[in-house]
Amino acid sequence: MIWSEAEGCRVVDADGREYLDLSGGFGVAALGHRNPKILAAWRAQRVVHALGDLAEAEVTVELRRRLPWPAKLGVTGEDAVEIALRTALLATGKPGILAFEGAYHGTGLLALAATSIDAFRLPFRTWLPGPVYRRRFGQDPGTLPARCGCVIVEPVQARGGSQVPSPDFLRILRRRCTARGALLIVDAVYAGLGRAGELWPGAEYADILVVGKALGHGLPISAALFIHSELEQVWDFGDEDVYTHTHTGNPLASAAALVVLEEVPKLLNRVQEAGERFEQEGWRGKGLLRAREGDAGEALRRGVIVVPAGPSGRLISATPPLTISDAELDEAFSLL
Ligand code: PMP
Repeated sequence: MIWSEAEGCRVVDADGREYLDLSGGFGVAALGHRNPKILAAWRAQRVVHALGDLAEAEVTVELRRRLPWPAKLGVTGEDAVEIALRTALLATGKPGILAFEGAYHGTGLLALAATSIDAFRLPFRTWLPGPVYRRRFGQDPGTLPARCGCVIVEPVQARGGSQVPSPDFLRILRRRCTARGALLIVDAVYAGLGRAGELWPGAEYADILVVGKALGHGLPISAALFIHSELEQVWDFGDEDVYTHTHTGNPLASAAALVVLEEVPKLLNRVQEAGERFEQEGWRGKGLLRAREGDAGEALRRGVIVVPAGPSGRLISATPPLTISDAELDEAFSLL
C-alpha cells in the first residue's frame, strides 16, 4: 500500500481508496495527520535548519525550556535510547544492561543489544555490545548483576504486543537499581506523550526517560530526559559534543514538539475513554496503545490500517491519533 494522502484519522492510497488509520503512522500522528496547528507551526519557522550542538535555533531553545527536565536531544527513538544507555555507562562505569523479553528499543547496534526480537538481533550478534542480561517482563529481576549499569524497560511493551506490567513493576525495578547503583531507563518512545494515558509514564521512578515518535509529529526528534538533572553533566567533555548528529534539535521538529506539549495534555481524558472502548472490544493494552489477535493484511482489505505486532507477528496493534472520534471508533470496530 502506498499512502498518497493522510488527514486526521484517514489515509488515501495511490489508487484513491480511503482507509481508517488505526496506526497513526506508528503512533507519530498523535494529533491526527496534517494537524493544522502543526502545519502552521512548521510554516511559521524562520530557521529550518541550524547547527545542531554548535548553534541551536530559538525554537529549539524554547523546546528545552518547555521540557520538564534537561534533555539531550536525538533524532530517532533508537538514537535517544543510545544516549540513555551511554549515559548509564558514563555515570556508573559499568557496561552491563538488563533488558526484558519482548522488548523493542530500536535497531542501531546498542539499542539492538537490548532489543529481544531475534529476527532483528541475530544477524548482527557478533557485533552487539554488552553484557546484556535478559529477564522476564513484568517480574522482579532479582538482585542485579554486579556489572549491570542500567535497567532499560518499556512502561508498556509496544511492539511486544501491548503488554502491561503489574502496577508495582517499575517500583521494584527502581529498588533493584538503587540497591546496585544502576540507572533505570524508561523507554517511553511508544507509550509516552499521552499514548498510554500519561504524558511522561514512569517519570516518578526513572533516572532517564526516553521519548520520540509523536514528539516531532512527523519530523524526527527524540529526547533522553535527565530526571536526575546532574546526569546531564556526564556529557561534559569540553567544547565538542562527543555524541551528535547533523539534524540534532531540528527547528521544524522542535516547533512541532512545542505544539504536541501544548495540545496532548488536553487529550488525556479522551485517551482514557477511547482506550476503554478498545478494552470493551477485546483489545489489550493501555490508553491508545492496543493489540489483539488478528491479521493486518485482512484488516487492510476491510479498509483499516493496523500494524502487525507481538513475538510471532500474529497480533495487530492499534495506535491511532489521540484525537480519534467515537464515530471513527464505531466504524473501525464494525469493519474489523
Ligand atoms: N523504543 C521503543 C519502545 C519503540 O517502540 C521504538 C520504535 N518502535 C523505538 C524505541 C525506536 O524508535 P525509532 O524507530 O524512532 O528509532
